[in-house]
Amino acid sequence: MQLYKTQHLKVYNSLSSTKELFEPINEGHVGMYVCGPTVYSNVHLGNCRTFMSFDMIFRYLRHLGYKVRYVRNITDAGHLEDDADQGEDKIAKKARLEQIEPMEVVQRYTVDFHNILQKFNFLPPSIEPTATGHIIEQIEIIKEILDKGYAYEINDSVYFDVKKFNEDYEYGKLSGRKLEDMISNTRELAAQDEKKNPQDFALWKKAEPQHIMRWPSPWGDGFPGWHLECTAMSTKYLGENFDIHGGGMDLKFPHHECEIAQAEASNGHSPVKYWLHANMLTLNGKKMAKSTGNNILPNEIFTGNNSILSKAFSPSVVRFFMMQAHYTSILDLSNEALLASEKGYQRLMEAITGLDGLNTGANSDFDIKEWRQKCYDAMNDDFNTPILIANLFEGVKHINLIKEGKEQLSEEDKKILIETMNSFVFDVLGLENKNDSGKDSEKLSGVVELLIELRNEARANKDFGTSDKIRDQLAALGVQLKDSKEGTTFSVSS
Ligand code: AMP
Ligand code: ZN
Repeated sequence: MQLYKTQHLKVYNSLSSTKELFEPINEGHVGMYVCGPTVYSNVHLGNCRTFMSFDMIFRYLRHLGYKVRYVRNITDAGHLEDDADQGEDKIAKKARLEQIEPMEVVQRYTVDFHNILQKFNFLPPSIEPTATGHIIEQIEIIKEILDKGYAYEINDSVYFDVKKFNEDYEYGKLSGRKLEDMISNTRELAAQDEKKNPQDFALWKKAEPQHIMRWPSPWGDGFPGWHLECTAMSTKYLGENFDIHGGGMDLKFPHHECEIAQAEASNGHSPVKYWLHANMLTLNGKKMAKSTGNNILPNEIFTGNNSILSKAFSPSVVRFFMMQAHYTSILDLSNEALLASEKGYQRLMEAITGLDGLNTGANSDFDIKEWRQKCYDAMNDDFNTPILIANLFEGVKHINLIKEGKEQLSEEDKKILIETMNSFVFDVLGLENKNDSGKDSEKLSGVVELLIELRNEARANKDFGTSDKIRDQLAALGVQLKDSKEGTTFSVSS
């Protein structure tokens, strides 16, 4: 029997601002869409936190036995510098500054994004569509919205008519804003502004002659508005009604609000059953962001190459650090917090390593099934990973008592313990049992240096049999020695 039939998951739905029982539209199947990165620069650790929150959610849904179709897009066009449809396209700007093709920018940072996510042990989404691959679908939605009367064309651009839409639907229901308040709080439109109202947003923007990323459309050459791509791609792959839509809290308004409006305007009903929003990673108490420079890159953490860090931290330690906070809470990054997480992570891994060899007894001194259910209860309560981790450490306490001979566990319960630990630690939290925060490579360097020394001694003694053996066997292991006037260096192939 599938676990979801007995484990009742509740999720915090931003649309209703309450925790609701999770009941997918089609039993046993979950459709989940998460807004992906805009690939114009390296992902920072804040971006990674949001994607990691949804990786954990994806993992837990799969663990419960759901068949999940997880769609996470790549924004490779249409995201302007300013949410109010002003400024340059972020990717086109980078291409202009670096004098390369926009698609070179996209390729470079998509590859970076994938590399980083792989280091963090993310599961790949089921589909990773791009905005530029769905221009036709976006144009079709604009036509529908125009047909229904909720958009207008002006100077070869098309804008969503928020006021008109709000007469029939409710604009602002996700972010809890009222259109009247938005109107009274906004400035007058500037003379050059072509929108009817400041709240209106672009569905299609006319491309000025210098704009390189452009496509033909019924309204002339242009490019789609940023909000539209997610409506087009989620509808195409998950349908007009799907279960979960996720993203960072900062996307709730205007991005997700506009997605709801677009879907309702084109097909008449609300697209998403559960809206899930992940909270921000902060640095020095302020949101990590590309634009302000208040950010840290994952590779800086993996190498320790940043002034706030006293050392390098492995991807699993960073992942553990993130999982120690609930995904809807703000989390502040600091060297001290990472050091504490590293200790916790190592304690957990030490306890798990060699569990197979744990001695068993006739009876069990603790209720393993109750403990397992406490782990599920934590995750069923809106994916509460910090409580789950506290429960896992309760398990660690017992493991250590058993190792010391102060408690015992039956053979049958030992199987449950191992299975539960492995499921939650590796499958659900996505941790890996390795500590590559530089210690392993330090050890490797030490060993190779020692072998180089022994080889030098052998050569000095004209024992070429031994010196060649050292060189050849290291080469067979992927460690190449290179002799030069300055001495011998080595490189390791991956
Ligand atoms: P972007 O590439 O700017 O479109 O952002 C990609 C994702 O990262 C979005 O879901 C954002 O909400 C999320 N994000 C951006 N900054 C942070 C942060 N400091 N903490 C957590 N998530 C963030
Ligand atoms: Zn989106």
